Amino acid sequence: RAKAQGRNNYQFYSAQLSATLQRKLAIEHALRTAIEKDELNLVFQPQVGPEGQILGLEALVRWHHPTLGIVPPSTFIPIAEESHLIAALTDWVLDHSLAILAPLNSAYPHLYVAVNISAQEFLAPCTLVKRVRRALTAAKLPGSALELEITESVFLHPGEVPSQLLTALKNEGVRIAIDDFGTGFSSLAYLLNLSFDTLKIDRTFVSDIDIDPAKEGIMKGILTIANSLGVTFVAEGIESSSQLHCLQRLGCSHYQGYYFQAATAMDQLLPLIDKKFRV
Ligand code: C2E
Ligand code: MG
Ligand code: MG
Ligand code: MG
Repeated sequence: RAKAQGRNNYQFYSAQLSATLQRKLAIEHALRTAIEKDELNLVFQPQVGPEGQILGLEALVRWHHPTLGIVPPSTFIPIAEESHLIAALTDWVLDHSLAILAPLNSAYPHLYVAVNISAQEFLAPCTLVKRVRRALTAAKLPGSALELEITESVFLHPGEVPSQLLTALKNEGVRIAIDDFGTGFSSLAYLLNLSFDTLKIDRTFVSDIDIDPAKEGIMKGILTIANSLGVTFVAEGIESSSQLHCLQRLGCSHYQGYYFQAATAMDQLLPLIDKKFRV
């Protein structure tokens, strides 16, 4: 009986496994089509400055497939990375977010979009610089209209990401943000030698900041480092006024999070562009 059960478990397990694999393959196949046929969507989340003004908009990709349903980026981005679709996806996001920003550029010349770049794309540094330049040219926008968010884990292995790449991107006029800071355990000494403009502290450090003295201490330390480097410090994932006030007390002045505005379609954001959030 145990033997039979064991075999059943095995069959169950392998059936599960192949279902997972099949879904993954289905997602990969559908994603390829979605990129080609413009079936993805972009939503934007405001990045809020010291006076509550909207400084920039982070572009976040959304995908609602007719049969697979809503597939979250946390599912399809890793699949895109594994299947070499990530460059096409990033190009799609670059093109569409810049095209959406372009008509706003004359009225709001300082407004920028922030686009997430995958770690994988740093393995092909030359093409990344060319692709960014191509996207800016196509949208007829200056480099200052674009910020690239690079997740901290990219910097895990010192030496693998050439600092020349960051310099080359900066030569295009784009700004560089280090995303999800605090989750990648990169060498701080190494980070300090790179030229970047913005440090985005991960929301895990923000989540309990108003109740956890240890998190407050860490935040204070990181803010001191950011200030001494002269980089902009953005707190991600602010959900409450008590988190906001705690961050302000520590000297943080750039914010992003549901407390201000969740990521939403651009037409819904337009009426807010001139608005100042209460800070
Ligand atoms: P991220 O770059 O750190 O983006 C922030 C994520 O946190 C977004 O989730 C956003 O909706 C969510 N968020 C914002 N404010 C709050 C808040 O107050 N509370 C909480 N709990 N969450 C908040 P989303 O859109 O699901 O994206 C998840 C991740 O997927 C992103 O993390 C980013 O790494 C990746 N991603 C999204 N769009 C793209 C893209 O176009 N390209 C690439 N390469 N990655 C993308
Ligand atoms: Mg980001
Ligand atoms: Mg990111
Ligand atoms: Mg982040």
